[in-house]
Order: sequence, then C-alpha cells, then structure tokens
Amino acid sequence: MKSLTLKSPAKLNLFLKVVGKRPDGFHELITLFERIALCDSIRFAKNSSGRISISCDHPQVPRGPKNLIYQVARRLKDDFAVEGGVDIRIHKRIPVAAGLAGGSSNAATALMGLNRLWKLGLSRKDLESYADRIGSDVAFFLHDCSWARGTGRGEVIRVLPLKSKLWHLLVVPRIKMYSGEVFTALGCRKKVAYPSGRTGAAAGRRRGNLTLTKKYDDVNILTRYLKQNDVYRLGKLLANDLEAPIIRLRPGLLKLKSKIQNWQPCGVSFSGSGPAVFALTASRQEADRLKVLLKKRYRQVFVVQTL
Ligand code: ATP
Repeated sequence: MKSLTLKSPAKLNLFLKVVGKRPDGFHELITLFERIALCDSIRFAKNSSGRISISCDHPQVPRGPKNLIYQVARRLKDDFAVEGGVDIRIHKRIPVAAGLAGGSSNAATALMGLNRLWKLGLSRKDLESYADRIGSDVAFFLHDCSWARGTGRGEVIRVLPLKSKLWHLLVVPRIKMYSGEVFTALGCRKKVAYPSGRTGAAAGRRRGNLTLTKKYDDVNILTRYLKQNDVYRLGKLLANDLEAPIIRLRPGLLKLKSKIQNWQPCGVSFSGSGPAVFALTASRQEADRLKVLLKKRYRQVFVVQTL
C-alpha cells in the first residue's frame, strides 16, 4: 500500500463533570462523548525521502512538530525505525481550538493510518498507550463507536453500545479557547452573572467545590434517556462544568447560548472547553431552521448528526 485516506471525526461532550484534581495537575472527569459527522480528511502517502511532511488547507494548523499528527508520525517512525517517510495532507473541516477535539481526532487517525501504511502490527492496546502520551481526548477516537463514557483525564474509555442518533445545531464563534486556560479558570470562584430567572441545567449544576459524591448518577440517567431516544429529557440534562470558566473568560458566549435557548430546542450546551455551542434538536428540520437564524451572524454554523 502506497497511500491511504481516512476520515477524522469531531466529538461533542453531552455531559462533562469535573470530579477532582489529581496530584499530577490534571483534572479528573466524567464525560459522555458523541462522535459527530463533521470530519477532516487525511491522506497519508509514503515517500522515499525519509521526511515527515504535513500540508493543510487551514492557516491555523501547525505544519511542523507542534502538529499532533507530526508527533504521532515522529514517535512511530523512531520507535519502529521506519526508513521511509510520509507526506500527510489534511483537509480541515473541523474548526480549530473549538472544543471539538479536531487535533486529538487527527492524532488518533494518524495512529491508525500509519499503523496500516507502515504495517506496524500494533494492537489497539498499543495504540492506546501512544494515545495517552499525545493527549486526553485521543483514546476515544481509536474506538469505532458513536458513544462512549470517558473517565480519568477522559482517556479511560467505556464504549456504550447504543444505536441512538441525534441531530444538533453547532455554532463555533470565531474566538479561540485553549483547554489549559479554561481549566485554570475553573479554579477561580468569581460568580457568572446569568440573566435573572435563568438557571439551565449547567448553571444549576455548577458548584464552587468539586464534588466527589454521586459521581455517576447524572451520566447514568442521561445514558438511559439516550437509549430511549427521549430527546426532551436528555436535553434538560446536558451539562458541562467548564461552562462557568468559559463564560468568565468570554462573557459574550453567554449571550449566544441564551439566544439559542430562547428558540427552545431540547437543550443547549458547550462542547469540551468551548467555544463551540451546540443545541440538541428534536429533528433535522429544527436544526436547519435554527441554522438559518444564526447564519446571518455566525459563519461557522453546522447541522450535524451522530456518526
Ligand atoms: P483542546 O481542547 O486540546 O484545546 P480543541 O478541540 O479545542 O482541543 P484543536 O482543534 O484540537 O482544539 O486545536 C487545539 C490546538 O492544537 C490548536 O491551537 C492547534 O494549533 C493545535 N494542533 C496541533 N495539531 C493539530 C491538528 N492536527 N489539527 C488541529 N489543531 C492542531
């Protein structure tokens, strides 16, 4: 095989709860991952120069050692003394630094793609150990599933064998947020000024201190509604503990979330460390309708389904 092209999907977090801080500085999470049909496409082609070269049609994606794909290729090439090189072309559709884990997904795709291209014979367990060294969200994308629960830093994956498919409206404002700054801001206690009367699932759930009790209750109930395709109840349980620091850092995002909430979809939340905001809608038509309303103001608006 001389080349191969693979899709690299994005994720949403329907639920993200921070349950503690670890001695190594990372936060302990419980999250519900959903794979969505918003995908980059990555072509891997062998070259004889021995070099790892990356090209991408998105200006904000690094081409050199800072690219997670490059880091994967470098490690595998060194560890397995691969003589040849690889030309990697990324067609980016997933907005960058948005909370959709585009970089992590690309890293997982590179692990699987280069394992095949270079015939390394690595098992999924082997790939997982590489994934853990690259980033917390990488492991989820090694699993061929729509739904999974993530614990630990998010890298301990339990696949949920559910057939549920949801529709979403997804808006990505053109501001970048880095997970590091959001987790740092999580430690601050300053209150977020929610509009009066509005609490919302996430707002009601916010806590000044990190709770360690009843850790799995909410995600268990949410999973049950997901299984039953009860989008209305599911929507009320969408929650993200990073919402408070996201809004503290970029107060304008609360306006966007409230605006979408006023159109009364089943639920609205942030994905990961933001700024991507998504609505759970009862149908594709409803998502399309919201898209028309938001398209005037925002350029990155998508209607996506579970993949
Ligand atoms: P995180 O929560 O880790 O910030 P994210 O999903 O919000 O992830 P990504 O799209 O993964 O955001 O991008 C985060 C940063 O990773 C970007 O600033 C980008 O420079 C860098 N990066 C490295 N490799 C890639 C890649 N292959 N695709 C996109 N971004 C990449």
